[in-house]
Amino acid sequence: MEDKKNLSSIVRVLEKIYVPWRWETRDPFKILISTILSQRTNWMNVKEAIERLENKIGISPYALAKASIEDIKECIRIAGLYNMKSVRIKEIAKVIVERFGGDLNRILNLSLNEARKEFLGLPGVGFKTADVVLLFAAGKPVFPVDTHIVRISKRIGIVGDKAGYEDIRRAWEKGLPHEKYAVAHVLLIMHGRNVCKSGKPLCDKCSISKFCAFYHKLKRGARGESCKK
Ligand code: SF4
Repeated sequence: MEDKKNLSSIVRVLEKIYVPWRWETRDPFKILISTILSQRTNWMNVKEAIERLENKIGISPYALAKASIEDIKECIRIAGLYNMKSVRIKEIAKVIVERFGGDLNRILNLSLNEARKEFLGLPGVGFKTADVVLLFAAGKPVFPVDTHIVRISKRIGIVGDKAGYEDIRRAWEKGLPHEKYAVAHVLLIMHGRNVCKSGKPLCDKCSISKFCAFYHKLKRGARGESCKK
């Protein structure tokens, strides 16, 4: 199941079902801030928070490093977890100003591994956030893994149940050509939200079920499991 052909086939099927959303910007700092804001909320709220930040403060490392936590909080309230997110945004902005002169391209121009290391050194930036910026702002060959992608990857069986972020990232990177990483990332998230849901996956409506180990196991009635993981 891990082979290139099957992962490409999964993406091809999903491409026929969903129209993948696209980032409206290539600005790495805006993508970074949006990804932080997206934690535990939906993209409508992120969009709204970004608009408010843009109108009231401006979305640049210098503007956000100078802004008060209260002002940032006020703008991003709609995206939830605003106490934590506002502190994180200001801290990151300050570090980018101090270490990189406010220019994230100084990180993005490094090799993939070096750039990844620098992003992971920013306060509160984890693998997913780093990889989203690297892929969507700079086109680096890295596959960001979010919670939906973790779930789907384990269910279809390209990794084992105990696989971590890096195992899942490598499996998709190995199985897809680089130019498909961005679209596959988005399509898998859409499929996770709509069909392969965290509570109860809608396997009967799933167009990639023929590729799915969980579905095949279910069909065989193995150990009387229900369609749930
Ligand atoms: S068949 Fe079920 S478990 Fe497998 S990918 Fe589809 S919805 Fe998810």
